[in-house]
Amino acid sequence: MVTKKTKCLFCSLGCELGLRLERGEPMALDYPGPLCPRGHYNLEMINHPARLTEPKIGNRQISWEEAVVFTRQELKQFEKSQVGILISANSSNEEALAAARFAKLLGTSNLAVAGPLSDLAAYQGEKTPVAGAALATEDDIASSNSLVIVGDILTRSPVLSKIINKVKYGQRGNSLIVIDPNRSHTSWFATDHLAVRPGSEALVLASLTGKMTDVNSAAEKSGLPAARLVAAAKVFAAAAKGTVIIVPGEHKARNDLIVYFAKELAAASANKKYVVFYQYGNTLGVNRVLDRELPDHLLLQEMVEKIENQSIPALFMFGENISTEKNNLDKKMRLIKFVAVAGYFGRESSVTSDTVVTFPLASPLEKSGNYTLASGTTVSLNEIVLPVGAKSNSEIMALLGEVSTGDGQVGPVYGQPVNFSDQLGESLQLATTASVPLENITHFGNNRLVKNFFWYKVNNHNG
Ligand code: SF4
Repeated sequence: MVTKKTKCLFCSLGCELGLRLERGEPMALDYPGPLCPRGHYNLEMINHPARLTEPKIGNRQISWEEAVVFTRQELKQFEKSQVGILISANSSNEEALAAARFAKLLGTSNLAVAGPLSDLAAYQGEKTPVAGAALATEDDIASSNSLVIVGDILTRSPVLSKIINKVKYGQRGNSLIVIDPNRSHTSWFATDHLAVRPGSEALVLASLTGKMTDVNSAAEKSGLPAARLVAAAKVFAAAAKGTVIIVPGEHKARNDLIVYFAKELAAASANKKYVVFYQYGNTLGVNRVLDRELPDHLLLQEMVEKIENQSIPALFMFGENISTEKNNLDKKMRLIKFVAVAGYFGRESSVTSDTVVTFPLASPLEKSGNYTLASGTTVSLNEIVLPVGAKSNSEIMALLGEVSTGDGQVGPVYGQPVNFSDQLGESLQLATTASVPLENITHFGNNRLVKNFFWYKVNNHNG
């Protein structure tokens, strides 16, 4: 029996994970550190009896070759601009890079990161530069004297409870300021629970920066006395060391603004940092790679709009099947004429017509890659078990990208012949890092942001 170590990527905390193997077969989890209940699913995922091991068209099992030929054949009926590609925020940085190259190969910029909309909006706030705002590691959180937490971090990442408890009881005077309209596991721990009105979280964070001249408007909108906001701001600013922790959530009105003001708050006083805990392990890495490689790529909402107005009738979904999401997306998906899904389970598509091809996808433990965690640290993980019949997103894209042109060369479906495998090989050498230059903000969820920035600028000391 050997134990191989890796990390859990079911959220962006990236807990240490061990797997005991006997003759290469995964037998049990090992525990180098704590795991939450979701972390235990890593083993179940590998051994799950419903895992897809062969490609399918509709509900019919087929060979890889047939699936690839079928996909290429189907693609020929669509214009370049009619093809959309989604890449899951759980993919590796290399798979994101391969997706950007696959999109270029097909001649489309209809490429978007797929994952929870709240995470994707939060990333838009995270990528907005704020001078002096730095990401916090777990050690930074543990050595903080004050935490400002927006949302229920103990539900998102329960393994942090030990650290958060340690901060609370570490030194006399340490504080835990929790901003949440609801009572939650985390608010139960708070030294000060700011039970704000839903939708006012960003405003309250802005008021805690101490830069707002009009704290009364924040007090009025949040339903809290201005004196409480001023007191909380003083406590956090005075702490020797502090961290602002953000948990993006579906029920928060503006996850992008919440993260933006978390960065402002972290930069407003000495020795403060911020961190955003995403539901999907590599939200930061996949988004950064796409922003760098294909800056005019779409947002998920834009992709859905294009599907709705029928300008994208052909869709690739690598690692994330949005037809199973909420918001009636499954109905919108019926507008699509051709779907190719790389997924773990054959039954996960609500669209099962004969124009849906499904490829078995390797889980994170079954492939190698780089992943950028919430702290901004990029970790390199090796495959620790062999996939049974499944392939990584990059491998599937490589298969789809190679088309025999009849003259011995390998070419793409559209455009000049290229050897996609070479490009892919190069992509495997590259990985995003925490120092990837971030462009100025180009697209937030909607133009209300402009108004909010205007409001912020006219109401703070910096003018
Ligand atoms: S907290 Fe996140 S990374 Fe840690 S075990 Fe749970 S899901 Fe995995």
